[in-house]
Amino acid sequence: MELPEFRATLDRWLDEHAADLAPDRSLGTLDEHMAQLAKVKRLAYDAGFMRFGWPERVGGLGGSPLLRAYLGEALTARDLVEPGIYSMTETLAPTMIDHASPALAAAMVPRLLSGDETWCQGFSEPGTGSNLAALACRAVEDGDGWRVTGQKVWTSLAQYAQRCVLLVRTGPLDVAHRGITALFVDMESPGIAVRPIETMHGAPEFCEVFFDDVAVPAGRMLGHEGQGWSVAMDLLPYERSTALWHKAAYLQRRLGDLVEAVADHALDPVQVGETVQLLAAFRARSRATAHRLAAGERLGPETSVDKVLVARAEQAVFDLVEAGLASDVLLEEDAAASRWRSEYLFSRAATIYGGTEEIQRNIIARRLLDLGDDR
Ligand SMILES: Cc1cc2nc3c(=O)[nH]c(=O)nc-3n(C[C@H](O)[C@H](O)[C@H](O)COP(=O)(O)OP(=O)(O)OC[C@H]3O[C@@H](n4cnc5c(N)ncnc54)[C@H](O)[C@@H]3O)c2cc1C
Repeated sequence: MELPEFRATLDRWLDEHAADLAPDRSLGTLDEHMAQLAKVKRLAYDAGFMRFGWPERVGGLGGSPLLRAYLGEALTARDLVEPGIYSMTETLAPTMIDHASPALAAAMVPRLLSGDETWCQGFSEPGTGSNLAALACRAVEDGDGWRVTGQKVWTSLAQYAQRCVLLVRTGPLDVAHRGITALFVDMESPGIAVRPIETMHGAPEFCEVFFDDVAVPAGRMLGHEGQGWSVAMDLLPYERSTALWHKAAYLQRRLGDLVEAVADHALDPVQVGETVQLLAAFRARSRATAHRLAAGERLGPETSVDKVLVARAEQAVFDLVEAGLASDVLLEEDAAASRWRSEYLFSRAATIYGGTEEIQRNIIARRLLDLGDDR
């Protein structure tokens, strides 16, 4: 199906099924957001919409990735899904499609698309975030598989996840990124303990995950042994590009909500203008990236520009919220206000997750502009 037809058909379906898709209750807690996401994905999957833009060999209905980008935009614009947790599908499914064995990808990807399962991404460790190549969670070969021991941290949604895309060290530390392997791990495996961490916005968005001699079958390797770094380098551009497109719709909607909420108060017109400009810049960039992906181009370090722009736009929108609705953001007096407060606080993390702003700027300087030393 082509994009114009997809848009029209999807918009009609969303209108007709608005009552089914609406949250069963007001959304506040992360549990409620996760339940709503699973419900919407299930309905959209059964109606076919969640399958467009994904290859047929993993249960998709084919077509351009622009179709699934529009689905994310439409669901977010209608406030049916929380944009951050929705992004996980766009980040992790392409990795499985590119690097898992065809049989594993065909068995697993439909579970993620249909909302039956949640997956998480186990990269960061207590000693390694930005310096990911120094990760220490270790896997040793054991018969026809691996045994994993170590710790991950800041693993988003791990407490809900059935599977984890996990980076482990299988070679010595002195070979840095060449000694890393990617595994697809069942979170129910004996030896895994998950401990949620509450963020300052009040939700247990991420977790510590402990692995104590966890058995992982050989067939769960993504790519080849020692090639986990290239799996990660393929994943991160998705996390910094197509997984972000629907954020523009979300930020646009919240900006509109803000303008309505502060009707009789003044917002600084210069600050509003700068915010709209940042949002437009992100949207234009993200649109170009989505089209490059749809044209079959391989995404790479240039997606760091998308990440810098979305973080700037998100923080600018919520800086404006803080200026216009200061008491809601600072005092948290009622449920409606607490949503503003929670989103404002979470927006502070936009320059950290998916690689910090400083790291993105290093990549832009060194790899795109050829400035300075890459060591
Ligand atoms: C909400 C949220 C969700 C997350 N979800 C996940 C997830 O699902 N899975 C996962 O694996 N991780 C996740 N993370 C972790 C995230 O990827 C890391 O926090 C991030 O990569 C930074 O690593 P760090 O926290 O160890 O900070 P550090 O790397 O210790 O950095 C600390 C500070 O030093 C700066 N810095 C470090 N190195 C340099 C350098 N070379 N040049 C200039 N400045 C530098 C950084 O920019 C930062 O300001 C999440 C984080 C957040 C906030």
